Amino acid sequence: MSMLTSPRTWVDISLTALRENWATIRSAIPSDCGVVAVMKADAYGHGAEACCAALRDSGATWFAVSSPAEGKRLRVVFPDGNILVLSYFEEGCQDVLDFRLIPQVWEPWQVDVLEAAWRDRGGRGRIPVHIELDTGMGRHGVRSAGELVRLLKHCREKPFLSIEGAMTHFSSSESLQPDNTIRQIEVFGVLLDLIIEQGVEIKYIHAGNSATAFVPRHIDALRGLGRRCGATLMIRPGTSFFGHAPRFLPSGIIAPPPLKPVLSWKTRVTSLREIEAGSTVGYDMTFKAQRSTRLALVPVGYADGLNRLLSNGGGAIVRGRRVPFAGRIMMDLALLDVTEQPTVSIGDEVALIGEQEGVSVSAYDVADTLGTIPDEVTCAIAASVPRLIRD
Ligand SMILES: *Cc1c(COP(=O)(O)O)cnc(C)c1O
Repeated sequence: MSMLTSPRTWVDISLTALRENWATIRSAIPSDCGVVAVMKADAYGHGAEACCAALRDSGATWFAVSSPAEGKRLRVVFPDGNILVLSYFEEGCQDVLDFRLIPQVWEPWQVDVLEAAWRDRGGRGRIPVHIELDTGMGRHGVRSAGELVRLLKHCREKPFLSIEGAMTHFSSSESLQPDNTIRQIEVFGVLLDLIIEQGVEIKYIHAGNSATAFVPRHIDALRGLGRRCGATLMIRPGTSFFGHAPRFLPSGIIAPPPLKPVLSWKTRVTSLREIEAGSTVGYDMTFKAQRSTRLALVPVGYADGLNRLLSNGGGAIVRGRRVPFAGRIMMDLALLDVTEQPTVSIGDEVALIGEQEGVSVSAYDVADTLGTIPDEVTCAIAASVPRLIRD
């Protein structure tokens, strides 16, 4: 890609790394357990269609998204498999039916919303649903035995419904001491037993996220529950597909799995200048040159998702060296202090996230600077930034 054909800023996607991560995660989970690949938020900002197609070709048969609109997009690359909608499906209820998405329900009125859509579509066939059980996450899901009995009673009156699975979500899967996940698994078991007692046969139970995939004692406990209710266990990793390895606490208790970053975020140097000691740069003059300073302009800013809190810090890589931002990050521009690299030239590729000559800035590095998690960093890269498949 030459300077003249290059976008201002772009993301390179390595489907090779994604496939390798699939293999690493798949081999960590016992072969009799399923994997639901969580691809919400446009595959954590990586581009859902290409990522799902690659995982589908690697053998993925279950995907999860957070809205019917996302599910509808995935259906195009995944004509036959299972697509779960993890939360709020009501707005796109017709799409749930038209694109054979599997919603999660936990309140009786959600069943009524599905029924209305089902009647509207001529009342044919049955709609598979999974029941969400709240075992400690506290955001959604059935919270008590009483609520569960009421929900199941309501479902029994709706022959169009087929309860295919039951799931829960862990709040602290990376914290191994104290191990609140074991407590959640116990509560999950109590609620699952109640489902069975009520005469409902479920095919699948699923729980957990990326961290769960790498904690054998959690998987073993969940498999025990699967056997107890005659259901297949599935684990739902998301972020680890993109190379963001769980950080277990206390640290070092489980070695980080060898996952590879899938995304690199790039731009180019479009202008260079030398400023004298004492000159100031950018909005509010927050950068004051301490010496004669060389600045490189890059056409990327907070409108593209480059967090403004990286101003006068953070770092990008150019010519194999990490350099800080100088002055405030602007809406669609930023400046890098390249004083230490006299050879930097117009057109040079700059990695905002990624690697050059063995030097790297990871989504974790950016997240650590900002006090957040890598998911937020990759999801924040604007949809307008092209995602290019590199390999
Ligand atoms: C996002 C999400 C996951 C995946 O979590 P990661 O930490 O990205 O692996 C799994 N299950 C549910 C319900 C989620 O919302």
